[in-house]
Amino acid sequence: MTPAPLQYASAGWSPPKDPAAIYWRSSFASDIAGLQHVFAPLGCNMSTTSGSDTDQTITRRASACDAIGSSVAQLVCAKQAHDTNIAAVGARDGNRVFDGVDGFATDDPNVTLMAFTADCPTVMVFDPARKILGLAHSGWKGSCLNVVASLIATMTDKFGANMSNASATIGPCAGGCCYEIKEDVAMQAEASAVDASTVLRKATAESKLYLNLPLMIAQQLEQCGIAPERIALPSQCTICDTRFYSYRRQGPNAGQAALLAKIA
Ligand SMILES: [Zn+2]
Repeated sequence: MTPAPLQYASAGWSPPKDPAAIYWRSSFASDIAGLQHVFAPLGCNMSTTSGSDTDQTITRRASACDAIGSSVAQLVCAKQAHDTNIAAVGARDGNRVFDGVDGFATDDPNVTLMAFTADCPTVMVFDPARKILGLAHSGWKGSCLNVVASLIATMTDKFGANMSNASATIGPCAGGCCYEIKEDVAMQAEASAVDASTVLRKATAESKLYLNLPLMIAQQLEQCGIAPERIALPSQCTICDTRFYSYRRQGPNAGQAALLAKIA
């Protein structure tokens, strides 16, 4: 296996120090002035359609919003489609569920962006000078379609964001250690990755293929003009770290985590 390039930062995701608190934060993103975020771990299902405890989802979403000084009236989310559609949103979109959208961009501090995940990477991009925020869901399909490039194009074209100032943080997701893929996915990743030789791993002894999705996305973010030292890779893998929801480990109906972010 080729070692992962070391030029990227670590997101430094960690659980709250207060045992009564719930939400994880990234030390990398917490150091960025003007950005607020939380990641909901296992036991804090953010989905209204997956999981046995969806009757309490709105209460949990309200609690997650409260943790970043927001409310569900300001929250936008989507029925994600593993595609590249990005919605430019503002306060008028509060409490709205978009259909077929995998990312949001905004310049409005009165809207909170939410992306669902159970293994798929979530990606938060922030231009601190112009205070432009983007959030995307980038699973293997979205990554092969380069959804983060669409996210950044919306941030730039609609809001004038400048990637030379921007940072990107990738949420806890399936890591290259565990994310086994089939040949057809490997072929698509090979065709679309910036540097396929570093993101695909063949374990010859077990005849298995693994994809390092967060590294694939980091390379796409770098190609969009974000400095590599301001791109933070997740420190956890949701498949082998049982503190997270994992589609691969738990199946499709276990519930979903979410990354919430807003401009402070
Ligand atoms: Zn793992």
